[in-house]
Amino acid sequence: MESELDLSEFCCLNEDCLDYGKKGKGNVRVKERYESKNRALLRCNTCTHCFSETKGTIFFGLKTPDEEVLRTLAMIPEKGSIRGFTVPSFNNQKGCAG
Ligand SMILES: [Zn+2]
Repeated sequence: MESELDLSEFCCLNEDCLDYGKKGKGNVRVKERYESKNRALLRCNTCTHCFSETKGTIFFGLKTPDEEVLRTLAMIPEKGSIRGFTVPSFNNQKGCAG
């Protein structure tokens, strides 16, 4: 099995590589799968550099389950901002001048 990953979303992370940071170049391939989470080890065909599919993301080296991280992140856009967590009615009462 090759991969379910959309490899066009990945780019080489080797700063010395000609294709460093360039997505959709077709130079990134899945080399192998590893660990219990079935992570992909990716390889840049331009410079032969290998890196994890999670390198450069918050998931790299993380022990927290992906589901938990995603659930936590999902709360942020839902509330708009950290200030969004305060109770709106509190501000209304405090700001009432008359
Ligand atoms: Zn490269």
